[in-house]
Amino acid sequence: ATFGRADDGAPSSIPGWVHVSSGKVRELHRPAPGSAWDGEDVLLVVASDRISAYDHVLSTPIPDKGRVLTQLSLWWFAQLEAAGVPSHVVSTEVPAEVAGRAMICRALDMVEAECIVRGHLAGSGLAEYRQSGTVTGIALPDGLVDGSRLPEPIFTPSSKAEQGGHDENISFATLAEQVGAEQAEQLREATLRVHALAEERCRAAGIVLADTKLEFGHDPRTGELVLGDEVLTPDSSRFWPAEEWEPGRAQPSFDKQYVRDWLTSPASGWDRGSDVAPPPLPADVVAATRERYLDAYRRLTGGELED
Ligand code: ATP
Ligand code: MG
Repeated sequence: ATFGRADDGAPSSIPGWVHVSSGKVRELHRPAPGSAWDGEDVLLVVASDRISAYDHVLSTPIPDKGRVLTQLSLWWFAQLEAAGVPSHVVSTEVPAEVAGRAMICRALDMVEAECIVRGHLAGSGLAEYRQSGTVTGIALPDGLVDGSRLPEPIFTPSSKAEQGGHDENISFATLAEQVGAEQAEQLREATLRVHALAEERCRAAGIVLADTKLEFGHDPRTGELVLGDEVLTPDSSRFWPAEEWEPGRAQPSFDKQYVRDWLTSPASGWDRGSDVAPPPLPADVVAATRERYLDAYRRLTGGELED
């Protein structure tokens, strides 16, 4: 029931397109009969300004967030493409209603796993390490703490949860059982390749890339493995300002920290353990969050988000 929120920038009706499905943040549309793209195996992928936290889509949108996610993804897709990683982007000429926040993409058969790569320890990786000294079964050295840099980046896939569920970390062996050994190898190789390029760019921009999630799919025409969804955005990645990185504590990040902090503070009056939807965000939390998304965009691309 997240779809069609009045002010989230992702209208339900777009001339020339037929709505297919809603994710937490994105809306997918296919070409309408008789439209310019009719007969092509493409999707219009529209990033709304919705923000999710603690498995809830919040009722307050973050202005410009959808444009940041789309423009940043396009910036990365172009560089990755140049480095030999094919992407699902077909065209950026999109209807005026969704200008800047949408792209026309090849409709892929999505791989049913999320391809996560970690260069630092945080989140569910940290939780598993504290329990067992491993992350998705990969043994790590003793003595690592919250935010530690790993000796080398590791591929730590997770299963895609059904709507509303939690993604679950899985071992490489489990991934290989699910998608086949050869494809699992391909996914690991492609994921680590993306990470190597991304980490270098992030470091140059003053950002620590702690981890990131990629989604791949197969081009139904050729069977080729293609990078889909969004890529290397604050929503799909843990970006930390390099100047504030300090292992041994939770790291400040570019994304939802203000939102999470406020939601769990007494000021919100919200009980995270309840089933109740979170309250609307106050204007200062919205403004600070918006600024963080724009800051990530600026640092990485070196430019301002264009109108
Ligand atoms: P989900 O839909 O899995 O719950 P989500 O809430 O993160 O995830 P969004 O990011 O809002 O979803 O929506 C994007 C959806 O589109 C995802 O399900 C993603 O897997 C799918 N997707 C992205 N690129 C493509 C593509 N090229 N072809 C088909 N599906 C795609
Ligand atoms: Mg998503």
